[in-house]
Amino acid sequence: MSSRSPDDVFYLTTPIYYINGPPHLGHAYTTIVADTMARYRRLAGDDVFFLTGTDEHGDKIAQAAAKAGEAPLALADRNSKAFRDQWAALGITYDDFIRTTEPRHARLVQAILKNLFERDQIYFGKYGGQYCFGCERFYTEKEIVDGKCPDHQTPVIYIEEENYFFRMSAYQDWLRGYLEDHPDVVQPERFRNELLGFLREPLQDLSISRPKSRLQWGIPLPFDDRFVTYVWFDALLNYVSALGEPGSDLVRRYWPHVRHLIGKDILKPHGIYWPCMLKAAGLLRDEASGGVSLPGFARLRVHGFWTLGGGKISKSVGNVVEALALTRKYGNDAFRYFVLREMPFGQDASFSEEALVDRLNADLANDLGNLVSRATTMLVNFGPQAAGATPAPELPDQEIRDRAAETSSAVAQAMDEFAFQRALVEIWSFIGGLNRYIDASQPWTLAKDPGKRARLATVLVTLADALRYLGIVLEPFLPEAAARIRATIEDTRRPALANAVMGRTDELGRVRRLSGLFPRVDVKAAPAGSPPGGAPSEGPTARITIDEFKRLDLRVAEIVAAEVVPKSKKLLKLTVRLGEEPRTLVAGIAEHYRPEALVGRKVVVVANLEPATLMGVTSNGMVLAGSAGEALALVALDRDLPSGAKVR
Ligand SMILES: [Zn+2]
Repeated sequence: MSSRSPDDVFYLTTPIYYINGPPHLGHAYTTIVADTMARYRRLAGDDVFFLTGTDEHGDKIAQAAAKAGEAPLALADRNSKAFRDQWAALGITYDDFIRTTEPRHARLVQAILKNLFERDQIYFGKYGGQYCFGCERFYTEKEIVDGKCPDHQTPVIYIEEENYFFRMSAYQDWLRGYLEDHPDVVQPERFRNELLGFLREPLQDLSISRPKSRLQWGIPLPFDDRFVTYVWFDALLNYVSALGEPGSDLVRRYWPHVRHLIGKDILKPHGIYWPCMLKAAGLLRDEASGGVSLPGFARLRVHGFWTLGGGKISKSVGNVVEALALTRKYGNDAFRYFVLREMPFGQDASFSEEALVDRLNADLANDLGNLVSRATTMLVNFGPQAAGATPAPELPDQEIRDRAAETSSAVAQAMDEFAFQRALVEIWSFIGGLNRYIDASQPWTLAKDPGKRARLATVLVTLADALRYLGIVLEPFLPEAAARIRATIEDTRRPALANAVMGRTDELGRVRRLSGLFPRVDVKAAPAGSPPGGAPSEGPTARITIDEFKRLDLRVAEIVAAEVVPKSKKLLKLTVRLGEEPRTLVAGIAEHYRPEALVGRKVVVVANLEPATLMGVTSNGMVLAGSAGEALALVALDRDLPSGAKVR
């Protein structure tokens, strides 16, 4: 029934988080996504290994430790622990936590370096270039924006030094061919396109060392102790070192099934450096690596960024650390539900306390919480526990059983694609159906009529069975709530998808009433002067007729190219496709989106706008975006439609 791939072994990694600051929303999102996927696969019966950890070397750690007057390792111990404590508080079920300062990691990094050096994959050379000390890397002229690091916005500095280089350029053609032939290795698709874009430029060899005169805090090169290992070369190898030496049992068992979950900001190291390193080190299929095979290279699953949106109940969510602190205010499950439900995997999304509370009230308190409360109340009041009511055993209603089966298979497909949002939409559609089922079947009316006993029994067994079903399928998404649902119907078995099938039971067990699974959050009254129930409007807007609205030709368009309009801070020149028709548009979104992040996206455009020329570029239409204060967001589709599709 399920479209799940036949893998029954599943190795999932998060990036190892750099410990120069506390855990925040971005780290938590990646880790929650990974935890949800790991729990889902375990529920499906797979052999799962879920790895996370911390990246602890480099300039920034050394400098912070020097400033605090302590040893780098003491600082690393403390900051790495903050991540483990945070994941414990969030109920994250990782199988191993790797630290790059551990001997098991350093050993593997040195072994791989030695192997590559002996096989002439690493050479000594001189390099001069523009360097960002924040990123600890060189930038090419093309990447530099107005003389500054595109990430830090601080000036890059020309430095020249002797270093060891990995012959990455030798793998350019192989990698390009590989990415072209294997669309599934990087998803969503547009990130593969972004990598192919990088590979249209000549690939440089990668400097993999830093002289100790400049940086001490790193893994020493095994063949030259005047140098330490460049942090990325060190960090990426955690995905192997956590399992052990190549050829070890864990490597043989899990490595061929690895999937790396990453944010789009670290696409290049994972999509370019990493496969070339693996290829050179012989960690790919059919190469002498102690029997280890990997289908191509590690499959990447890439997610977008959170932006912080405004909201009327709290203006205080000013940064990503405060955003994560909301778990303490609203609970792990509500936070987890919000981030999984709000962000279509691979795209950007906006985080606000207000939006979180809206979801909590609507989806969790109203839809799920009410369902559980109503169903358990009716089971207690009219079921076998109630005096005089002893319904005959019946199978659950066929319609609800069918819906459960459809939901399971849709969720399986969505989870195969890392489409967490879609999985939740499917489950909530089932929950909505159950609430309507209660409204329509009216157990409280059936209970008054002795002639309707059999029908009442069917309705009650349907509700009990549906709760049992939800107690299993909700486990990866809402682990605490799912456990409470199972407890309230005294389902003590270890949850397994194999048991998430309705209609296997015709018995009504003991049930306890469960109300307030997710208490509603009272949204404070809007401040005086604001219109009730909404954000302050920007002044009166005249109403339009439907015919006036119909004059707008709104279309879905796919962005095929994007570039900065020269001499403009705000404008991007976009080439979009409306069906087969190419168009050039100018959009004032350069302060909010980097051009390369837009290619492959679908947006909504006004197609019949009068052409206008901005900074010398003629724009044939307008891209729709929402804005509030500083924040800006492109209008996107919540599921795919072909470009050219009409929007109304
Ligand atoms: Zn930088």
